[in-house]
Amino acid sequence: MPDAHRNRGHSPNAQGQHRPALPPEPYDVERVRADFPILQRLVHERPGRLGKPLVYLDNAASAQKPRAVIDAMVRCMELEYANVHRGIHYLSQQTTDAYEAVRGKIACFLNAPSRDNIVITRNATEAINLVAASWGRTFLERGDEVVLSVLEHHANIVPWQLLQAEKGIVIKVVPCDERGVLDLDAYADLLGPRTKLVAITHGSNVVGTVTPAAEIARIAHRHGILVLFDGSQTAVHMPVDVQAIDADFYVFTGHKLYGPTGIGVLYGRRSVLHRMPPYQGGGDMIAAVSFAGTTYRDPPYRFEAGTPPIIEGIGLGAAIDYVEALGRDAIALHEHSLLERATTRLERVDGVRIVGTAPGKAAILSFVLDGVHPHDLGMLADQMGVAVRVGRHCAEPLLARFGLEATARASFGLYNTIAEADALVDAVMAVKEFFR
Ligand SMILES: *Cc1c(COP(=O)(O)O)cnc(C)c1O
Repeated sequence: MPDAHRNRGHSPNAQGQHRPALPPEPYDVERVRADFPILQRLVHERPGRLGKPLVYLDNAASAQKPRAVIDAMVRCMELEYANVHRGIHYLSQQTTDAYEAVRGKIACFLNAPSRDNIVITRNATEAINLVAASWGRTFLERGDEVVLSVLEHHANIVPWQLLQAEKGIVIKVVPCDERGVLDLDAYADLLGPRTKLVAITHGSNVVGTVTPAAEIARIAHRHGILVLFDGSQTAVHMPVDVQAIDADFYVFTGHKLYGPTGIGVLYGRRSVLHRMPPYQGGGDMIAAVSFAGTTYRDPPYRFEAGTPPIIEGIGLGAAIDYVEALGRDAIALHEHSLLERATTRLERVDGVRIVGTAPGKAAILSFVLDGVHPHDLGMLADQMGVAVRVGRHCAEPLLARFGLEATARASFGLYNTIAEADALVDAVMAVKEFFR
């Protein structure tokens, strides 16, 4: 990470408090782009045909990786690699220290009270499944209620449906309005004596809505109900403070945060984690094993059976360093300017309908174009080098809410530019011409 990138604008310090901005430096997106090798490549290269520059607007599905992440993972494999938590030899201890330091980094990143609140998983999906399998199987009984929202990604629907089939729990769903804003009155009305958990996204991957997490938690806690937030989209777009929100569980996934695949995070409140039994058995999660009976380690290790994602952990640590050095507030501001640019221009294109207009939304822009199937739009845009997502975005109930089969979705990341926001709109206009 070049020093010039450090501490631009606000960024939370180790305690998660915001220090005042240093003298404001403009966000130097060209310098940021130079950190991402893949952004230098062309797409659709063929013999005799020059390729097109890549306009990567599929960040909500997965983000590209900066050199710092790639280098950290390569360095780990080349120089600092051994299994963790077991060896007394030099390399194992070095790798263990590096891996456990990442847990501390994640704790700071979320402003968790301690690294013991941080369970490392394979992705956000596994983190939610962990809560459903361990906490859910133990504490939920037939007729108990779990409250979700219509904004959820399938990762925060299906694990609860598995419990519904297994234990007979009841799932209730908070609706949203035409803008994609959750109906908080309806939410409060859904909470009853049988409600045991509220599991709601902190940010929609389809319509970009950022939900009022602190308010949602406050209302739930008044009734002694636990709250889980799916932060897969918010951890990448804005500062997150699990203590300020007062979350009981908070999950996110590494590969959308400019880190590698194969690693995710479950934050859990200490008192809750300590009451939860293991959900997978194996090495690393035990205190003592005998055929007469086995005892388990304290959280977070109790939930981390087997060899952990060591190299991926090192990569996630580097990704967090990278994002923190740019400053999440600075990233949010930059992405917001891209969203504004694309939105104002796209709104003016006849036949375009933007899906999701919640105030304060994250830099995710879903839309449909009259008379053109999103898949055709996506394929033609791709021919112009513009990579957007088309389909249901793993959120079929939300698409159904808007009466849609599919949308096109552009999602901006910290390396996207105004010129790329324009390229998106130009591509949509070209597609529209094509179908005239
Ligand atoms: C991507 C995403 C997930 C799932 O992430 P995985 O890495 O596939 O586990 C869950 N929720 C939301 C909101 C997402 O955007």
